[in-house]
Amino acid sequence: MTDHPRGSGPRAAALHLARALGSSALKASLLKAAGSKTLQRQMTKNPLARRVAGRFIAGDALTDAVEVVRRLNASGASASLDYLGENTDSDAQARAATVAYLAALDSIRDERLDAEVSVKLTALGLDVRPALAIEEAARVAARAKETHTFVAIDMESHDYVDRTLASLDTLRRAYDNLGVCVQAYLYRTPDDLERLIDWQVRVRLVKGAYREPSEVAYPDKASVDRAFARLLERLMEAGAYPMIATHDPRLLRLTKKLAGRYQRDRDTFEFQMLYGVRRDLQQKILEEGYRVRVYVPYGGQWYPYFMRRLAEQPANLYFFLSHLAKA
Ligand SMILES: Cc1cc2nc3c(=O)[nH]c(=O)nc-3n(C[C@H](O)[C@H](O)[C@H](O)COP(=O)(O)OP(=O)(O)OC[C@H]3O[C@@H](n4cnc5c(N)ncnc54)[C@H](O)[C@@H]3O)c2cc1C
Repeated sequence: MTDHPRGSGPRAAALHLARALGSSALKASLLKAAGSKTLQRQMTKNPLARRVAGRFIAGDALTDAVEVVRRLNASGASASLDYLGENTDSDAQARAATVAYLAALDSIRDERLDAEVSVKLTALGLDVRPALAIEEAARVAARAKETHTFVAIDMESHDYVDRTLASLDTLRRAYDNLGVCVQAYLYRTPDDLERLIDWQVRVRLVKGAYREPSEVAYPDKASVDRAFARLLERLMEAGAYPMIATHDPRLLRLTKKLAGRYQRDRDTFEFQMLYGVRRDLQQKILEEGYRVRVYVPYGGQWYPYFMRRLAEQPANLYFFLSHLAKA
């Protein structure tokens, strides 16, 4: 018997399609769609899509993000501001992204926010030429230094890892307020982590959010989780200031256990989570007395970020499709 969706109409059909695809094929399709410029144009113009994306994005304007950071700070959490945008293809766009970050840093200083910034080097011109991204990131790091805060460099797809780490190697010689993200799903990450431990920079450990081939990344969740646990132990043992970025309750418990084993005070590492994801867990960890930093994205270029969030959790897609179908 064919498994027909219960009910009719676009919502039922969409849900049926999503279920029929299965979660790993669905994830791959969503991550592929994240790179589509055509879909990006269509979705960004759609007010309903924008509203649904608002679960994960503070708003279009810096003032929206500042408002969210104020609320987070009042609850005891720190923040990291991410001005959305990636893969810029001109000097002018890269400079515009820098200007947005300088404004964010000025707000952090003027409003006395407990916040740092997160940057993607492709937003600052890495695809145009690495020297441009380094120059722009240096301007952001210099302003962050004046503001007494940090700059975390996000990690993008595997093609960018060498260029990102090489840029960081140049930048860290002039700025000591930089950190970088590493992705547990990449086979190369244990070696990268040893270099970063040598450099004594702050490291954010994540599972990894991009569509990667099995030649470079573990294809299955169980292997990624095990890789995360191994990297976590090494980071808690030797890292300068581990930033454990996950919502996985098992890995949060393991972090607390490792903090005990390696006698880490609670001000020598932090948990990081995404705006709009597992707020209950963010609050619980704060109440237990740990440091929590929430990653707060804002700006008009929300499409690829939103698609990666949909891909992480199939339930998000059902939520999104049901809103679209109701419209
Ligand atoms: C602060 C921060 C910065 C990040 N920076 C980067 C980066 O620079 N590069 C990069 O590749 N990746 C980055 N990521 C994303 C990361 O790689 C993962 O894709 C993401 O965190 C989901 O993985 P997880 O560790 O929470 O574990 P999962 O096993 O995916 O999720 C564990 C649980 O968390 C909840 N959850 C997770 N994601 C969602 C979601 N989207 N919606 C609703 N619930 C969800 C669910 O309850 C799920 O069961 C970042 C993540 C965080 C928290």
